[in-house]
Amino acid sequence: MRVLVIGAGAVGGCAALRLAEAGVEVTLLTQQEPADTLSAHSFGWVNAIDNKHTGYYELSVEALAAHERLAADTVDAPQWLFRKGNLHWGSDEASADAQRLVADRYHELGYQVEGKMPSEVLRDLEPGLSLENVVGPVHFYPNDRHVLGGLMLSAVLARARAAGVRVRSGERAEGVSGSSVRLRSGAEITADAVLCCAGRGNVDLIPDLPLLPPGVPERLTRGLLVRTTPVAEPVTRVIHAPGLSIRPHTGNRLVLHCHDLDRTLTEDPDADALAQRVLARLPHVLPGAAGARVENVFVGVRPMPSDGMSIIGPVPGNDGCYVIATHSGVSLGPVLGEIAAQEVLGTPHPLAEPFRPTRF
Ligand SMILES: Cc1cc2nc3c(=O)[nH]c(=O)nc-3n(C[C@H](O)[C@H](O)[C@H](O)COP(=O)(O)OP(=O)(O)OC[C@H]3O[C@@H](n4cnc5c(N)ncnc54)[C@H](O)[C@@H]3O)c2cc1C
Repeated sequence: MRVLVIGAGAVGGCAALRLAEAGVEVTLLTQQEPADTLSAHSFGWVNAIDNKHTGYYELSVEALAAHERLAADTVDAPQWLFRKGNLHWGSDEASADAQRLVADRYHELGYQVEGKMPSEVLRDLEPGLSLENVVGPVHFYPNDRHVLGGLMLSAVLARARAAGVRVRSGERAEGVSGSSVRLRSGAEITADAVLCCAGRGNVDLIPDLPLLPPGVPERLTRGLLVRTTPVAEPVTRVIHAPGLSIRPHTGNRLVLHCHDLDRTLTEDPDADALAQRVLARLPHVLPGAAGARVENVFVGVRPMPSDGMSIIGPVPGNDGCYVIATHSGVSLGPVLGEIAAQEVLGTPHPLAEPFRPTRF
C-alpha cells in the first residue's frame, strides 16, 4: 500500500512514522522545512485536556501514553520529552477560584493534582519563582509533561526515514482529489490513500473544513511565542503564572507565552514590540531571569476546529482522503499518528469516533 502524508508537523510526522512501521510505502510532503513548522515552535505543554468532553479527555489521556511509546522508540535521539509536571496558580480571589474549579474537575476525573503551599513549591520544585502574591494553593499536576517540538520532530523524522519514509520538503500541494494530489509544480502524485495533516493549511486542501479563521481573538487562533536567551536561574517545568506561561528550553533558555496578548494579535502584528511586553513580565515571576533578551519570536495560527475539538477521519465525498486537524497537536500528535495509521489500514479506532468530519 502507498500513502501520501501531507504535512511534517507533529501530526503528519508521527502518522508517517507509524504507517511506515506498519509496512506502508509512505511519501511525506511538506511545504515548510520541519524545523519551521508551528509544531517545532509550539509551547509544547502536554496534558490531559479537560474541556468537559469525555471523548476529548480520553483521547488526551491516551496521548500521554503515546508520548511514552514514542519516547521509548526514539530513545537514541536527544531527549525531547520531559516529565516534570506543571504549576498553576491565581493572584486574586477570582483567578484562585477559577484554578480551584479546574483542579477539582481533574481530581474528579482521577487525574493527579496536588495543592501545594508556596513555601513547599520553593523548597521542593522551583526555588527561583516569586510567589509572594499567590492567592490560594499552587496547583501541581505531576503527570503533565513538556516537549521540545523541534527535537521531537527531528527524532520522529529520523526514525521515519530509517523506516523508509520518503520526505519531500519544499513542495506545496494545491488540491486533493480522492487519493490524488496536485502539486504547485503542476505534477500530480497518486497513492492508495492521502492523509492530510497540514495543520492550518488543511483549509486550502479540503473545501469547507471548519477551521476558525485567524482573526477570531476570543477563540485564540493567532499566538505569539517568545524564546529568550539563556538565563541565570531557569525553571525545570511548565509554569502557568497569572499573565505569563513559561517552559524550559535548551541551554537554560525559556519559551514564554501570554494568552491575553494573543488576543491583541492582528494580521500584521508588531511582533517585536509584543515580544518585549511578554519579556517584561518575566522578572516578576522569575527574578533570576532578569536580563534575558528575546532570541526568537514566532507568530503562528492554531489549527482550531470551529467546535474546539479535533477533526479525525475520512473526508466525506472524497474517497481515499483522510484528514486530521487539531489544536493541541503537540499533545495529541503521537496518539493521532497511531490512530491514523490503524484507520488508514482499515481498522476504525474507538477513540476517534467522536471526532469524525461528518459531525459538522
Ligand atoms: C501560541 C501557541 C501555543 C500553543 N501551545 C500548545 C501547547 O502547549 N500544547 C499543544 O499540544 N499544542 C499547542 N499549540 C498548538 C499546536 O502547536 C498545534 O496544534 C500543532 O503544532 C499542529 O500540528 P500539525 O502537525 O497539525 O501542524 P503544523 O505543525 O502547522 O504542520 C503543518 C505541516 O503541513 C505543511 N503544509 C501545510 N500546507 C501545506 C500544503 N498545501 N502543501 C504541503 N504541505 C503543507 C506545513 O509545511 C507543515 O509541514 C499552540 C499553538 C500556538 C499558536
